[in-house]
Amino acid sequence: MAMIEIKDINKWYGDFHVLKNVSEKVEQGEVLVICGPSGSGKSTFIRCINRLEEIQKGEILLEGHSIHADDVNVNDLRTEVGMVFQQFNLYPHLSVLDNVTLAPIKVRNMPKGQAEELAMKLLERVGIHDQASKYPIELSGGQQQRVAIARALAMKPKVMLFDEPTSALDPEMINEVLNAMKDLAREGMTMLCVTHEMGFAREVADRVIFMDGGEIVEEGTPEHFFTNPQHERTKAFLKEIL
Ligand code: ADP
Ligand code: MG
Repeated sequence: MAMIEIKDINKWYGDFHVLKNVSEKVEQGEVLVICGPSGSGKSTFIRCINRLEEIQKGEILLEGHSIHADDVNVNDLRTEVGMVFQQFNLYPHLSVLDNVTLAPIKVRNMPKGQAEELAMKLLERVGIHDQASKYPIELSGGQQQRVAIARALAMKPKVMLFDEPTSALDPEMINEVLNAMKDLAREGMTMLCVTHEMGFAREVADRVIFMDGGEIVEEGTPEHFFTNPQHERTKAFLKEIL
């Protein structure tokens, strides 16, 4: 059974058909990179997977179970399908440690001590345990984004969604975030990453998909994708970003 199966989904914003018959399967432990021009529907696509956006047609299964079934609680779904955004969205009034422990304590009823122990382990994993008592504003963008990753991991998600996690960062901070993501991929996390970091895609992705105009235009292994793209739109896109 696939970790995620997306079956022929369609979405409209009013009259605007933003996702057109999109289907995709992601196996457990697989890393899927999604690229494509601005406005092609990449964010909308991954936001449907944790129901930050709703679809009007089609089906999305998480481990074989429809995420739109009556017994699915959206808040629980979002703990199983973690997300990291371009803008880090940390709670500014909470310390780094409290940002990471908040959901385990509130949503999972984890005792505070246990949540803090878990948070420190995760902060160590992304290389910022020495920043635990600081506030987000005192951290660099790259450090804040690693806190956001640790915060999502604290809920022990089955899948992680990344929406251009390095696009808002200064160039010298991009690698520290990509390295945290690479570690996560090596540890076997199932990941869907919208990114234009083609070095990351080459190194880590099992598959790359190219979206344009709300459709998946092309998909393949990084090898296929970068050396032998078939579609004119893919070729034009790669030419622009590589
Ligand atoms: P991408 O992430 O590939 O840049 P998006 O998924 O953000 O693309 O957006 C796809 C298209 O849908 C764009 O044309 C965008 O303007 C439009 N769009 C995105 N969000 C909304 C919204 N909430 N209401 C109406 N149109 C939207
Ligand atoms: Mg986007």
